[in-house]
Amino acid sequence: MNNKIVPFLPELLRHLFKKPATVKYPFEKEAVPEGFRGNVVCDAAKCIGCMICVNDCPAEAIDIIRVSETEKKFKMILHNDRCIHCAQCVDSCPTKAYHMDAEYETAAFSRHDLKIEYK
Ligand code: SF4
Ligand code: SF4
Repeated sequence: MNNKIVPFLPELLRHLFKKPATVKYPFEKEAVPEGFRGNVVCDAAKCIGCMICVNDCPAEAIDIIRVSETEKKFKMILHNDRCIHCAQCVDSCPTKAYHMDAEYETAAFSRHDLKIEYK
């Protein structure tokens, strides 16, 4: 046996019976820590169209368009390709229409596919 390996043998043997230090991602998805800021999700039924989120979003990632002048109806477009996951919209919304989910695998071939429309 190569004498250079001998000093490392105890360490090597110890690690043979230890659990692996690495995770099996992407084969097994890891749980995210509490407070993790994934994607913004909107409960459109709670929206009153006040536009506070549009004005407060630092990434200009939210568009709200009034679709009916007579009824209070809005269309919201969330540009997830621009979102920086700061959660400012969650804090600003007076009706608590937003929350952030635990998703961290947001990828698409086109940035336009990341657009989410709420009516
Ligand atoms: S999380 Fe931040 S960047 Fe994303 S939509 Fe909300 S305010 Fe805008
Ligand atoms: S802040 Fe809330 S209620 Fe106001 S427009 Fe945005 S989602 Fe709607």
